[in-house]
Amino acid sequence: MQQVLMLINGEWVNGQSEDRIVVTNPATNEPIAQICSASHNDMDAAVATAAKAFESWRDVPVTERARLMMRYQALLKAHHDELATLLASETGKTFDDAKGDVWRGIEVVEQAMNVPSLMMGETVENVARNIDTASYIQPLGVCAGITPFNFPAMIPLWMFPLAIACGNTFVLKPSEQDPLTPNRLAELFMQAGAPAGVLNVVHGGKEQVDVLLHHGDIKAVSFVGSVPVGQYIYKTATANLKRAQCFAGAKNHTVIMPDANKEHVLNNLVGASVGAAGQRCMAISAAVFVGGSEKWIPELAKRISEIKPGLWNDPEAGFGPLISAAAKQRVLSLIKAGKEEGAECLADGSDFTVPGCEKGNWVGPVVFDRVTPEMTIYKEEIFGPVLSCMRAESLEDALKLVNNNPYGNGTSIFTNSGAAARKYQREVTVGQVGINVPIPVPLPFFSFTGWKNSFYGDLHAYGKQAIRFYTETKTVTSRWLDDDIPGGPNLTISMD
Ligand code: NAD
Repeated sequence: MQQVLMLINGEWVNGQSEDRIVVTNPATNEPIAQICSASHNDMDAAVATAAKAFESWRDVPVTERARLMMRYQALLKAHHDELATLLASETGKTFDDAKGDVWRGIEVVEQAMNVPSLMMGETVENVARNIDTASYIQPLGVCAGITPFNFPAMIPLWMFPLAIACGNTFVLKPSEQDPLTPNRLAELFMQAGAPAGVLNVVHGGKEQVDVLLHHGDIKAVSFVGSVPVGQYIYKTATANLKRAQCFAGAKNHTVIMPDANKEHVLNNLVGASVGAAGQRCMAISAAVFVGGSEKWIPELAKRISEIKPGLWNDPEAGFGPLISAAAKQRVLSLIKAGKEEGAECLADGSDFTVPGCEKGNWVGPVVFDRVTPEMTIYKEEIFGPVLSCMRAESLEDALKLVNNNPYGNGTSIFTNSGAAARKYQREVTVGQVGINVPIPVPLPFFSFTGWKNSFYGDLHAYGKQAIRFYTETKTVTSRWLDDDIPGGPNLTISMD
């Protein structure tokens, strides 16, 4: 079986731990590769090589670091289809969706190409007589990234290109469920001309993450994944005096006002709810119908139920399987809870399967109506192709519902009223808001700004905030003396 190797100091090597993790094809659950996890020594070697590489990488001119990103962007584009095929084969995503996963990552590399202007500091001349102050942006050292299964191209690319463009070195620990795509991203990065040790990739799970969280040479940790793991990583990393940004789970609502354009709403909700089998942190999982728009629910359920899952290379497939048998069991048990707790099941894909792939992790589209805030299917992040329809009498009531939810990743409102849209955007306690746009993921010149339990930290992913996260600011205050040297010591704090 194919071995999933680690990248340490520019060499691809097998992990030395006794732990073995089998990577499976989610469409069939057949094994496709095997990980030998990193041993403690492997982890130490990865961090040590990154620390060593930092000594020289930090001095490489910012323009050369930008050119590495330009070559990398060109290679990623040249290998776009190949990357998407690999990604689809280990995640089950449809080919087009897999291409989107890669593309969203390429866009972040394009932002990293602009690093010279992003790293500009500030200057003020004559802050006091003959004194100037300038600020410089400098890298931190070794940064670490821990990534989830659901975007194995985009999310590693949220992290290492920007960190490295800023002059840091990096240790990436990708999801053990789909490590082949991140490895291929790293191979292409080396091919683009990255020096050995600047990017290292290690494999494993909690044990390997714990080494990173406790290692004195790791200065910053970026994490994307579930809430319990995000909380654990944020608390442990910060307790060990590291910077941390932890992007976690979600429950994203869309609010449908009765004045919205019906066709636009229905077309958008189909893809936003069950696209990628609902395994997107920005998927719409709760649709809140306000004052009359609930009459569209049966038609929405019908259209969603017509979407058929299928194999990644089936052009008719709307989405693929769930990532694992455990994920499927979890989603099925939540669907069961929804039925038992009184939600009305309008479309039920629980028994769906693809002929010839019966052992795969298939779940067809599911739509519930009359979901209430007390129900388990509302309280839990389902991460499956399940839409919960809810009802509210007014925009005010819808806002209360959304704001009472502990998550705050994304939300949207469909309306033709500027006043309703403006009220929603101002008052909602969610970090990414779409107006007649179902999944408002910002492009990389902005930042990915989840709130509440969807994010622990201060500075978000990509955009200017990522540059701040991966750097320190140094201010330099200088006075160059001429012949007129003032006499005597100055014992006050005045600089004049
Ligand atoms: P996960 O939390 O199970 O795993 C994420 C990473 O953490 C993996 O690399 C895994 O090996 C590691 N990990 C798992 N358990 C750990 C532990 N106990 N200690 C230390 N490390 C551990 O998440 P997942 O199932 O891969 O991804 C799905 C989750 O990610 C969903 O909750 C989804 O909402 C979330 N997500 C959030 C965003 C966002 O931007 N907010 C984006 C994508 C995914």
